[in-house]
Amino acid sequence: MRLLIFGPQGAGKGTQGRRVAEEFGLDAIATGDMFRWAISEKTDVGIKAKEFVDEGKLVPDDVTLAVVSERLEAKNFDDFLLDGFPRNISQADSLDKVLAEHSAEIEAVLALEVPEEVSLQRIVGRRVCSNCGRNYHEDAPPEEDWTCDRCGGQVERRADDAPENVKKRLRLYHDQTEPLKSHYQGVLHMIDGMGSPDEVFSRIVDSLR
Ligand code: AMP
Repeated sequence: MRLLIFGPQGAGKGTQGRRVAEEFGLDAIATGDMFRWAISEKTDVGIKAKEFVDEGKLVPDDVTLAVVSERLEAKNFDDFLLDGFPRNISQADSLDKVLAEHSAEIEAVLALEVPEEVSLQRIVGRRVCSNCGRNYHEDAPPEEDWTCDRCGGQVERRADDAPENVKKRLRLYHDQTEPLKSHYQGVLHMIDGMGSPDEVFSRIVDSLR
């Protein structure tokens, strides 16, 4: 199965993407996580991506496409769920082209929907473990002094989650990513992202089955 998940910041695509990938045995390819890892390891890609990620801007398409293509190739262009890619029409066209060269295409696109004020509230309060990536919220912190309950790592706000950056990223989403809904019209599944993670997950599974 070849899936995409997208939605505004704070719609829960990271959480739902991981669960859907696990449910259907897919490789979850999250470009944001890949860039954050590359930046923390100071790889060549990380060095190129850092200033863009920190400022809430899109990493240039050629860098992003190279990173994604390598992961797709490793799985023979099948059994994947892409989270955070494509982010604009040009990336979608490149992805279509790469897949077509392997007689493949995207089978379903999950578009998570939440109102803008919910996105803002979720993201501005979000805190993330710098070691394992587990998400918290300032209203639901870890048990002990911003130390991750799961791995003991430091829990902090992502640089790109600062309020001024979140507004910029939401604008980018509306201007560049939302038009992908018409690009994928025939395979689009609109999913209400409000409610508990379990509720949203069952909506997704129902919609795919
Ligand atoms: P995310 O975790 O999906 O919100 O991504 C975090 C950051 O990684 C974004 O704000 C961008 O700087 C970068 N990024 C992730 N995916 C892409 C993409 N498909 N194209 C360009 N930049 C991306």
